[in-house]
Amino acid sequence: MSNSQPIRLSIGSMSCAGCVASVEKALNAVPGVDLATVNFAEHTAEVRGSVDAATLCKAVVDAGYEAAELRGQENIEDKQAAELAQYRKLLIKSFVAASVGVPLFISGLLGKMPGLLEQRPFWFIIGVLSLFVLVYSGGSFFVGAWKSMRARNANMDTLVALGTGSAWLFSMLITIKPSLVPISAQHVYFEAAVIIISLINFGSALEMRARGKTSQAIQRLIGLQAKTARVIRDGVEVDVPIEEVGLNETLRVRPGEKLPVDGVIIEGHSSIDEAMLTGEPLPVQKAVGDKVVGSTLNKSGSFIMQATNIGSNTMLAKIIDMVRSAQNSKPAIGRLVDKIAGIFVPVVLVIAVVTCLVWYLFGPEPKISYMLLTTMTVLIIACPCALGLATPISIMVGVGKAAEYGILIRNGDALQQAGKLTTVVLDKTGTVTTGRPEVTDILTTQAWQDDALLALVASVEQGSEHPLAEAIVESARSRNLQVESVSDFEAIVGHGVKATITNKIILFGNQRLMKAHDIDVQEFITSANKLAEQARTPMFVAVDGQLAGIVAVSDPVKVDSAEAIAQLHKLGLKVVMLTGDNAATANAVAAQVGVDQVIAEVLPSDKAEQVKLLQESGEIVAMVGDGINDAPALAQADVGFAMGSGTDVAIESADVTLIRGSLYSVSDSIIISRAAVRNIWQNLFGAFIYNSLGIPLAAGVLFPATGLLLNPVIAGAAMAMSSVTVVTNANRLRLLKIKHD
Ligand code: ADP
Ligand code: MG
Repeated sequence: MSNSQPIRLSIGSMSCAGCVASVEKALNAVPGVDLATVNFAEHTAEVRGSVDAATLCKAVVDAGYEAAELRGQENIEDKQAAELAQYRKLLIKSFVAASVGVPLFISGLLGKMPGLLEQRPFWFIIGVLSLFVLVYSGGSFFVGAWKSMRARNANMDTLVALGTGSAWLFSMLITIKPSLVPISAQHVYFEAAVIIISLINFGSALEMRARGKTSQAIQRLIGLQAKTARVIRDGVEVDVPIEEVGLNETLRVRPGEKLPVDGVIIEGHSSIDEAMLTGEPLPVQKAVGDKVVGSTLNKSGSFIMQATNIGSNTMLAKIIDMVRSAQNSKPAIGRLVDKIAGIFVPVVLVIAVVTCLVWYLFGPEPKISYMLLTTMTVLIIACPCALGLATPISIMVGVGKAAEYGILIRNGDALQQAGKLTTVVLDKTGTVTTGRPEVTDILTTQAWQDDALLALVASVEQGSEHPLAEAIVESARSRNLQVESVSDFEAIVGHGVKATITNKIILFGNQRLMKAHDIDVQEFITSANKLAEQARTPMFVAVDGQLAGIVAVSDPVKVDSAEAIAQLHKLGLKVVMLTGDNAATANAVAAQVGVDQVIAEVLPSDKAEQVKLLQESGEIVAMVGDGINDAPALAQADVGFAMGSGTDVAIESADVTLIRGSLYSVSDSIIISRAAVRNIWQNLFGAFIYNSLGIPLAAGVLFPATGLLLNPVIAGAAMAMSSVTVVTNANRLRLLKIKHD
């Protein structure tokens, strides 16, 4: 048995990117785990498989970290309060360390400090004071280093603890017994150790601040939830907490109120603002029988609804789950970086040892001082924090940004892929057009009357769920026509329908269907072509092998389809329309919206094949469809976009789910993806440049030629700022505004 819902854990003591690999390794080694991913930006892990949370927590603890299961929707206020407390604590630690380190550092620079040999008791007191700072402000690094050593690991704590610890130890030793080293090396490094600790704490505090902002998108979604609901029980209206609303219960929603859960209106009507979920600015009119979504805003009317989805089944809850798990997922590039970060710390330890040896063997006097200085600087500057944050932090912001626009991205890979697309394939019905066709023309042979023919086909179409069928049935209903019962109903995919009514065999569908049954359509062929040129879809009716007439429907294009397609062109994409409808109709629609290529009269089963052909010609293809009958094509495409229509969203289906039924969502997704991917590369570039310049400089490669060495305090500042820079850069993504023109 495999749990469909992933287990979420909060992971403590993860100080650095290298830890991600250690924790993932520990979790993936637990029997029954299918896949575990750790999000360094959020300090969480998501585990899929058949395994219980307690076992997972134990595995994490054994690896030297802390873990606790996260259940349901965490209380945001608690989380924010905890984060604020942690932020303050880091600032205080940083301040305490700075108040000892900075005066020492400045007086040292000004040459105002007494010499070690003259004032040993003074230096001894400074040493003890520094030890207090190391324990109070830097204790967590030493504890972390110890834990990870016991688990045979090394992480950022290891580097910081080794760097500052050895500086302190060396300084204390020569304070107690200066003769251990030659006169020229009798110099202490208490201030460096203390200031480094101060800077790293300060950096963590800033990073935490900025990281808090990256999860704003999910917090906004959680915050959308209504707190109470007004239920009608035994005819009496009472306010109850949202958790107590039962399935199928009747609820009253008053003007200005948030809808508590998903449901159907059973009395009254209103206009509802769904912008918070769909990004669609205009309120939507809703009446009896219409579906409504929890957490949207009731504008004008008061109505009664029946709850159809409650608790974790509401659309909002599902959106939150999906956004969250997408934010936690890693694209290919992120997985690669984590692998690199995982071996980074051991590699740095090796570089540190080599640096140490080289200075000891070949360095100028005072060897001991140079050796200590360079090794400490290498350890401090080399931390791969920025590297580990680079990808997940941009994914979090990018996925959250998309959610703001009513775009649900399934995972990091989809986000990365969407940025690379070259061709967008659009399904016609329901994607380019509204998907709500209406009957426009009825043409009959002499033997038939309009109403009789319409009643006949409506009888047949009762059994079909095709949008065309709905149009026919709806038209018959509005004309008050009587439908009859049918037998032997058969829907012939991509062709039409067939059924028997009082011993007469009725065929209704496109020309292909008529041809397959050898029915002569000559009489209506000219009118059919004319209708098709007007972007209408003509369908032929045959009764007992004789053509009886044509019913044509028109499915109007969505108001913004043409503009959105122009936007896709601006982004450099090729736009293809794919449809089962006849070529003439398809071309007429294509001309209205300006697509580059039309592939018409495609059977539903061949749509995936068409996508594949485009891929084989070298295109990276997006398929945009309604997510139900286009499933194979959506799966075949590099990125499948399922187009929802506000309330009917099949969230489980595609790589990207568009809640708002506008093609603009496709261009929005691509704009966001490109920005996010660019952001990741900027972050990675920054992180790699920082380490690849910083480490050699710290090791002293410039020293032989220029006499230049990196000050360990500067190294501490650089390391503290590197992750702050990455997080700040990722936060720039939040400011992305998409304009539709
Ligand atoms: P689309 O790409 O528009 O989803 P389909 O493959 O569903 O195309 O349908 C292709 C064509 O087959 C329609 O344009 C119509 O002519 C015919 N057809 C399919 N289903 C029906 C139906 N239930 N009633 C009448 N005609 C149908
Ligand atoms: Mg279709």
